[in-house]
Amino acid sequence: MFCYHCQEAKKNLVCDKTGICGKKENVSSLQDMLMFSLKGLAFYCHQAEEFNLVSDKTNRFMAKALFSMVTNVNFSATEFVGLIDEAVRRRNSIRSQFLTAYQQKNQQEFNLTLAEEATWQYEAIDEQAYTDKGAEVGVEKDNESLDPDIHALQETLLYAVKGLGSLAVHNLEMNIESAEQYHFMYQALSFVLNKSNTLDEVLALVTHSGELGLAAMTLLEKANSKKFGAPVATTVHLDTLENPGILVSGHDLQDIEDLLEQTAGTGVDVYTHGEALSAHAYPAFKKYFNLVANYGGAWQAQKTEFPKFNGPILVTTNSIQMPKKTYQEKLFSTGMVAWPDVTHIADRKPGQRKDFSQIIELAQKSEMPTALTEGSYVTGYGLNALTKQVTNIAEAIKADKIKRIIVLAGTDGRHKERKYYTELAEALPENTLIITAGDVKYRLLKHDFGEIDGIPRLLDAGQSNDFSVIINFLQQLQQSLEVTELSALPVSFNIAWYEQKTILMMLSLFALGYKNMRVGPTLPPFFTPAILDLLAEKYGLKGIDTVENDIEAMLTGN
Ligand code: SF4
Repeated sequence: MFCYHCQEAKKNLVCDKTGICGKKENVSSLQDMLMFSLKGLAFYCHQAEEFNLVSDKTNRFMAKALFSMVTNVNFSATEFVGLIDEAVRRRNSIRSQFLTAYQQKNQQEFNLTLAEEATWQYEAIDEQAYTDKGAEVGVEKDNESLDPDIHALQETLLYAVKGLGSLAVHNLEMNIESAEQYHFMYQALSFVLNKSNTLDEVLALVTHSGELGLAAMTLLEKANSKKFGAPVATTVHLDTLENPGILVSGHDLQDIEDLLEQTAGTGVDVYTHGEALSAHAYPAFKKYFNLVANYGGAWQAQKTEFPKFNGPILVTTNSIQMPKKTYQEKLFSTGMVAWPDVTHIADRKPGQRKDFSQIIELAQKSEMPTALTEGSYVTGYGLNALTKQVTNIAEAIKADKIKRIIVLAGTDGRHKERKYYTELAEALPENTLIITAGDVKYRLLKHDFGEIDGIPRLLDAGQSNDFSVIINFLQQLQQSLEVTELSALPVSFNIAWYEQKTILMMLSLFALGYKNMRVGPTLPPFFTPAILDLLAEKYGLKGIDTVENDIEAMLTGN
């Protein structure tokens, strides 16, 4: 096993026996085998695009398969066996169509030296055989045959593509698709099969992936706002009521709507957990009086918080951890999320809602949640709400009432070093604004940051997917202040990275040419020292230091 694609890699190096996330060695190998198979599929899809041969079904399959490998999404060996089989079958099918089309057009056979990924065939659908093959073709294989710096950047590209897959699936749930996104997945996955790529070529694609990440987030924000209304600043309760409840986590607003629609009037309340907190800000959900509060903290608190909830828990898009026996029977997954022996709610049929009836029945027999927290928190500074603040914030900057905007976005996690984010936010001077997105917000939840001339000092734009909202807001601020570059604004980015979507946050800043960002609590383990030097020089990428040093540096634009 060799996995280092999230911030929790063992000792910030690599998970080599079992994942800190709970991923077992066999599942890790199956994921490597799936990536190997997808590269082969992508190779032929990329070739076949010229002939318009790639079907919508293959595009969607590619996105879902990539999403399945994002950290904390899917831990089911059975699922991965099915995905590998489908990848190879789809590759074989598109290969034969492509070869025929190529022959007809060029009057000669397609003749290119092919990587093993494009030719490998299985003898039978066999979990053990796939696992054994996966152990041979994982991250380490390329590590042996490539320049380490190129390997490091190509791995970054693969993680970005997984993040793009997850965003593409979120968009698909909203009936939005982007041909450009699918094209890039094929381009990037087939690109890494070429052993003669240069560092400049890889860096160009990595940077482009950031552009596409931002575009995918923007599409999603628009789709969510169109369907559920533009988020409005909303006070979310953090306490509990007396009814039994269902706890929902993840990002999927359509799942949340389906759940609210089916629980309305049943005597069952709905609570959010983790990044689902931002659902409270959408106007479409305000008519559901049983969407009562947010329960507990960020995703990594689930093992202690889920048992206390007493009722069933639905995990929609990611962040599932190995469940404890105390709540496993009450845990449900849906979409691409899966854990062995956790009940999975099937996809919705066309034109219908997902069927959550068994969760609701279980909730009706459950005790009310045990109170964990109290008080409230304000979220909902989505695009509309932030846009309304542009003029005020620009005026406050001109009047020197706001000295700096600190973008503290990203994901929370288990590392105790993440207390840095709480300490940093609390120590920032009162003439700074903090804008957040993602569940790093849980590090800031308990503090009252006050206001500057009526502008809340803490503005929560929503989920990590809403990072594009922050960028859009800053671009409006740029115009208002007549500043030519994002880097010239009094803004500092401090990204709490965890998994592949937060990697996209960092890459989107590369794409925007923003120089001078901090990434923490540790730097990604897949970057080599030379790549870190390169990114420091080109994009001002740096790790975090002490709270005092970082505040001093950020306030002076460093
Ligand atoms: S996803 Fe993260 S925690 Fe899980 S095995 Fe990989 S590096 Fe380790």
